[in-house]
Amino acid sequence: MAKPWFGPEEVAAVARVVESGWVSQGEKVVEFEQVVADLVGVPHAVAVSNCTTALHLAMVVHGVGPGDEVVVPSLSFVATANAVRYVGATPVFAEVDPVTHNVTADTVAAATTPRTKAVIVVHQCGVPADVESIDAVCAPRNIAVVEDSACAIGSTLDGAPVGHHGRLAAYSFHPRKVLVTGEGGMLTTRDEGVAQRLRRLRQHGMTASSFERHLTSAPLIESYVETGFNFRMTDMQAALGVVQAGRLPAMVARRRQLAGGYHELLADVEGLQLVGDPANGTTNYQTFWAVLPDDFPLSRNELLHLLKERGVNARRGVTAAHLEPAFADLPATHLPVTERITRQSLLLPMFHELQEDELEHVSTIIIEAASRSTRTKRKGTSC
Ligand SMILES: *Cc1c(COP(=O)(O)O)cnc(C)c1O
Repeated sequence: MAKPWFGPEEVAAVARVVESGWVSQGEKVVEFEQVVADLVGVPHAVAVSNCTTALHLAMVVHGVGPGDEVVVPSLSFVATANAVRYVGATPVFAEVDPVTHNVTADTVAAATTPRTKAVIVVHQCGVPADVESIDAVCAPRNIAVVEDSACAIGSTLDGAPVGHHGRLAAYSFHPRKVLVTGEGGMLTTRDEGVAQRLRRLRQHGMTASSFERHLTSAPLIESYVETGFNFRMTDMQAALGVVQAGRLPAMVARRRQLAGGYHELLADVEGLQLVGDPANGTTNYQTFWAVLPDDFPLSRNELLHLLKERGVNARRGVTAAHLEPAFADLPATHLPVTERITRQSLLLPMFHELQEDELEHVSTIIIEAASRSTRTKRKGTSC
């Protein structure tokens, strides 16, 4: 389903950190931050332990707290909505677009109230959301826009990397994503003051890190100026990240090639919707999703079973948080597009070393399943 692409360079980079004796947040983290800032095209990147803690800190720096509402897509990994809960605020679920599976200016506007303090826009599965038009709705009302770019490193919007506008954006380096450090996250921003506050918050609210204190000739006495967290990345993870960042162009190119293969192989499956580039950007194909048509001969779960029987690990589509027990205390919402997508979608294998014959094996199973009915074939739809 997913598999990181590592080589001997990653092994050597991590070994060098271990041999150095400095394994916690140090010079490798500083280097990886610069590499990611350059990739995104912004001046500041702040490394953290994962994207969930990155989103949590994004809520903190935007001053979100009890009594506030934050608009998020229900159709996302649950961490997006959980980040809102961590600061005592209430997630309000917005509907998504049936083609891109992302929130839009209209669906965000429909979910806002006078209590809305922020919006978390998710670039779902790496497909860039039209965050500019969402900004246009939010800016006049003083609603902060945060980008959940967990899946989207290497995706582009309006010809530039996702996140380059410099709004606070959170990235993930979990093995299910494209660039992998084991666990790991990053926040990017154009605002130096925000970057400084994030650096302090990730290390217990202290004014100087252990590494900074290690480097000075005279003793440096730190102080603790606010209640912070321990959300640090280690130098071992950062060393992995630096090597992985060098592979990013090749990883995105290979994924786009594989996605083209799926599109070709599955083009004749009637009504099957496949993930693709939106009008104003390109996806890194972090995830390759397919949505089954309403009249597909098998249910999504039956198809997952069939794939598993034939040795293919596919997965259910993206979760809808508003249907999960963890959010049952919130007012009931009905999101028909989200509910259809989460019910009828599946995620197909997509990783750098996936081979063309494996792509054909997966596609053949789906084509055979589709032909269990006697429907006439026409071209599948995609976005
Ligand atoms: C994976 C993911 C996260 C969480 O990332 P972690 O690094 O695992 O904490 C958050 N949001 C979205 C949209 C994700 O896909």
